[in-house]
Amino acid sequence: MHSPIKEVNPQSESVEIVGWVHEIRDLGGLLFCLVRDRTGILQVTIPKKKVSPIVQEVMKGVTRESVVRIRGTVKAIEKAPGGRELIPDNVELLNSCETPLPLDVVEKVSADLDTRLDARFLDIRKPRVTSIFLIRSAMMDAVQVYLFSRGFIHCTTPKIVAAATEGGTELFPIAYFEKEAFLNQSPQLYKQMMMAAGMEKVFEIGPIFRAEEHNTTKHLNEATSIDVEVSFADHRDVMALLESLIVHVYGQIREQCSDQLAALNIEEFPIPRIPFPRIPYEEAIGIATAKTNEKISFGDDIGTTAEKAIGDEIGEHYFIVDWPTAIKPYYAMPYEDQPHLCRAFDLMHPRMELASGAQRVHQYALLVEQIRAKGLAPEGFEFYLNPFRYGMPPHAGWGLGAERLLMTMLGLNNIREAVLFPRDRHRLVP
Ligand code: ATP
Ligand code: MG
Repeated sequence: MHSPIKEVNPQSESVEIVGWVHEIRDLGGLLFCLVRDRTGILQVTIPKKKVSPIVQEVMKGVTRESVVRIRGTVKAIEKAPGGRELIPDNVELLNSCETPLPLDVVEKVSADLDTRLDARFLDIRKPRVTSIFLIRSAMMDAVQVYLFSRGFIHCTTPKIVAAATEGGTELFPIAYFEKEAFLNQSPQLYKQMMMAAGMEKVFEIGPIFRAEEHNTTKHLNEATSIDVEVSFADHRDVMALLESLIVHVYGQIREQCSDQLAALNIEEFPIPRIPFPRIPYEEAIGIATAKTNEKISFGDDIGTTAEKAIGDEIGEHYFIVDWPTAIKPYYAMPYEDQPHLCRAFDLMHPRMELASGAQRVHQYALLVEQIRAKGLAPEGFEFYLNPFRYGMPPHAGWGLGAERLLMTMLGLNNIREAVLFPRDRHRLVP
């Protein structure tokens, strides 16, 4: 059996490794070959005289990014990566790689994002890019472990739906036999129905589809949402859950992913401190108005410029709370004593929004009234509304964008860096 390259050390006697040829250097009497797997890089040193002619023969035919299996002995050597080198007894070329490569994996010349995404399978081989996805995997694991430990049930809801969650233009229609159907924008209505089903605490990690027309650095047309819904809870309870989840995820990544953080040149990885500040919407627009030249009035959305100005001022994760009822979805619960404000919140990173949530309306009559107030027809939502007539508990929840969480954690400039195969206005392949 082969060993992961990271685990090869001078104490190991005879080892076998498999991987890709990262670089080959012919120094006359010596042939250096760097072999890479997803755990690291190992120098294979081939003294041309001593090693068997078979090894020499195979090594001559090996191109960069060819796939090899190498057996040999390990020696300590200061100058090589990881302080060790492998002197091979046997080399097997498992598959040779054509030349020239569509993308340079060694990254001597940096390619633009489009070129990288066109040859994404090669791009992901770069240790820096591999690291992003190893961290993404650890992040998803941390989220699930945490939610299971808090008594959540994992659920999977349909992505092909008949009704839009919130109406609007951000919908992808699909051909579904003789019916009109859409790709789901959010599991919102279904996770609320799980509350009516008595599940009490559910989470889902799944795709959401948004027909965002414009290319931005923080929007995808297919994103991953981490969704949570909790019965007998209010907005404050689920905000506390959300901030402690964020801290847990940062902590796990710091603990488990030090090699990957180093590969990304991230030296400091501070864990956010909780509780995050709770900033009422009115105060937030006050900050934005003072910091930008734009006047933002009560009931206006907080756009990108305003979001940045507030983020700069606060300088850490924060919640915007007490939103105008008019600009939040119909399912957000208004305050009884001031119904123009609602129990909705956004979780913000200084750079952008990470999550939206709220205590939900659980009363049938109020929900129908709020759907009408948004200019939507309750008739289109019967499957969703019915459960509210037959014992719907009070509940609250949120949806957290996985790619935004990852990109803000790692300081990535573009959300496309946080997805294997991003979907945007212009990109449907690979
Ligand atoms: P924004 O205003 O930033 O476009 P939103 O308020 O429309 O986001 P929500 O409907 O509140 O988004 O969705 C919950 C979360 O899902 C967002 O906070 C974000 O993290 C993530 N999200 C939503 N739309 C996208 C998208 N197109 N691409 C990536 N992530 C998204
Ligand atoms: Mg939102």
